[in-house]
Amino acid sequence: MKKIISFLLVAVMLLALATSAFAAEGETVEITVSAKGNPGFAAYQIKLGFDAAALELAAVTEGALSAGGMLDVNNAEGLVLFVKNGANIEGDGVLFNATFNVKGEGNYDVTAALLDAYNEALVGVDFELVVNVVKAPEHVHEWGEWVEIKAPDCDEYGVDQRTCATCGETETRQGAKPLGHAFGDWVDIGNPNYHQRACVRCDAVENEGHKMVELKELEKTEEIDGFLVTIKTHKCEVCGYTVEGLDKIPLTGDITPVVVGSAVAVIAMITLAGYMLKRKFAL
Ligand SMILES: [Zn+2]
Ligand SMILES: [Zn+2]
Ligand SMILES: [Zn+2]
Repeated sequence: MKKIISFLLVAVMLLALATSAFAAEGETVEITVSAKGNPGFAAYQIKLGFDAAALELAAVTEGALSAGGMLDVNNAEGLVLFVKNGANIEGDGVLFNATFNVKGEGNYDVTAALLDAYNEALVGVDFELVVNVVKAPEHVHEWGEWVEIKAPDCDEYGVDQRTCATCGETETRQGAKPLGHAFGDWVDIGNPNYHQRACVRCDAVENEGHKMVELKELEKTEEIDGFLVTIKTHKCEVCGYTVEGLDKIPLTGDITPVVVGSAVAVIAMITLAGYMLKRKFAL
């Protein structure tokens, strides 16, 4: 007995599976539409929902649950009609497989709605439709411009990031080169060996030995405890650090210069030792 199906909207079930977004032309979307909670049907009409600008329904083939029946497909409308005479089809399983060709950019989601279903007694029945994506187009990211999300500092690279306009995924890469330290001027920090400069951006400091030069005009001679003592003044031509003392003030900063008070005593001893040595050899 041939069944006439009046496509009344008894039940509409929508199920969407995301296969969102952007794919290359020539790719396909393949889905299966299954019945769940099937009370036994003999006919159904299912409407596939899809973005016609992005997809075209290329083929519908029967699944296990539709074996032995008659499938009629309106590809443009996405309508799938199934009729089987003889007995109700029981149980859950795959009703049909559908393949879509990608036409262009857009939404690649596919939905399935059960417009109508009947059993052998022409009584409307209802069941759930489950759409499973077998093959989705490979997503091709639509990357935006690289944006600096962390600026470089003295010794670390910055970080750039870009975002896919379609799926929102982000990607980072090494950003701008480290800037290097931005040192200020050399400063006298009271250290007898070196002057120092600091980075204006971070807390890095750098030391460098004084570049001592003798200030001839400040040289003076004093008589101390019967010895003639020459006191010379040296000044760092870079930072201005100044010290009075012996001629042997280190120029590289490795040796702590002798300052005035003790210098007098030291030079006195050296002069005395030299004097005694001379006398010894003179004998
Ligand atoms: Zn993406
Ligand atoms: Zn720095
Ligand atoms: Zn200096």
